[in-house]
Amino acid sequence: MARKIGSRYTAHQILGRGSAGTVWLGEGPEGAVAIKLLREDLASDQELVGRFVQERAALLSLEHPHVVGVRDLVVDGADLALVMDLVRGTDLRTRLERERRLAPEAAVAIAADVADGLAAAHAARIVHRDVKPENVLLDMQGPLGPGGAHPALLTDFGIARLVDSPRRTRATKVIGTPDYLAPEIIEGLPPRASVDVYALATVLYEMLAGFTPFGGGHPGAVLRRHVTESVAPLPGIPDELWQLLIQCLAKAPASRLRAPELAARLREILPGLAGMPPLDIDEPGGDQPEDEAEGGAPAGSRDDSRYPAAAPGEAGPPRGAVPLVQGSAPDSNRETHTSMRVPGPDELAGGAHGTARAPRAAGERRAGSARHRSSAEAVRRRRLKLGMAAVLVVVAALGGWLASSGGDEPGGATPGVHQPGGSTP
Ligand code: ADP
Repeated sequence: MARKIGSRYTAHQILGRGSAGTVWLGEGPEGAVAIKLLREDLASDQELVGRFVQERAALLSLEHPHVVGVRDLVVDGADLALVMDLVRGTDLRTRLERERRLAPEAAVAIAADVADGLAAAHAARIVHRDVKPENVLLDMQGPLGPGGAHPALLTDFGIARLVDSPRRTRATKVIGTPDYLAPEIIEGLPPRASVDVYALATVLYEMLAGFTPFGGGHPGAVLRRHVTESVAPLPGIPDELWQLLIQCLAKAPASRLRAPELAARLREILPGLAGMPPLDIDEPGGDQPEDEAEGGAPAGSRDDSRYPAAAPGEAGPPRGAVPLVQGSAPDSNRETHTSMRVPGPDELAGGAHGTARAPRAAGERRAGSARHRSSAEAVRRRRLKLGMAAVLVVVAALGGWLASSGGDEPGGATPGVHQPGGSTP
């Protein structure tokens, strides 16, 4: 069923649904395009429409082979749409769901492409703020690169900024995955270019390991790990690549490489990775006995207690939206931190987060250990208390973050870089 979008575009069929809206395969005067039709509640928000129009120039100006180009912004009656270059392929999340881990050469080639795209954005004073596998598109019609990787393009520039207002955030029902959030955001600082580098390093780690360095378990626990824990080493990873990863996952934004340096270093190490198979890493959620939780979890085991117990050999934990209120269903499994909601006092008091696990000390984590669950009441009660404490920490952190997310100060680790909202069209 075709649908007119403004006077110039026709949407033909749905390509996919994301957290901010639905992406359609469409047609415009210059041929095939992808049209992201924003969710109705976003499109009817006058403030958001205003910002959308205001940020038009910044979004339209970003042209790079590793950035999905935005061709047009359409505000037409109830429709608010972003017209983009059509990428014929898939997104990185879909590929990871299929393959779990990529060969280091392919993973590094993809990360280098994304770093190139980020470098261009940062040079144009634009911070992405939502780098994650869902926002990396793989162009299957492009030439095969190192490790058989198709060209990777970063998409959704500016969307996090547009959709992410304190008012909107509070109204959303679901807390998204905080797996890619840089620690300084959690601590309430405004997002600078270095948050994108941190998120990209997280994505690279995930491509290599099959899971993110700090993900799993209660969202509060994930946020805490970003701030306090060190990254678990990946067995078999070449040292040069590991050093690069930990530098870009540094807690201090200024210690991270900048995007152009990261891109260059990744391309330098690419030849040495040729032919290397995917890393041999135990799946989280593998074959660890369940009762280990009773006698104390093994050091560094992943915290996946939010997931229903899986049979041995079952796939690892799901990624994506985490219902903040127990029993509620996520709107989409592709929600992100852009739709985090601060829980109300009743929920905080109601003990809805009883599955949160005890915090671990920094440095305890190790990659590839298994999930487990506990049936002991005493352990559950202790977790409940700790979960509550974690939620309070999250609320405090989010409060600071929300308060600061209205500001668009340029600069930080990469001086002069700011978000699209800060650009003057
Ligand atoms: P999210 O909000 O989770 O980032 P999106 O709304 O950006 O997701 O995308 C939803 C789906 O549409 C994804 O599966 C993605 O592969 C597809 N898609 C997004 N942009 C494009 C594009 N420019 N060309 C082709 N497919 C796209």
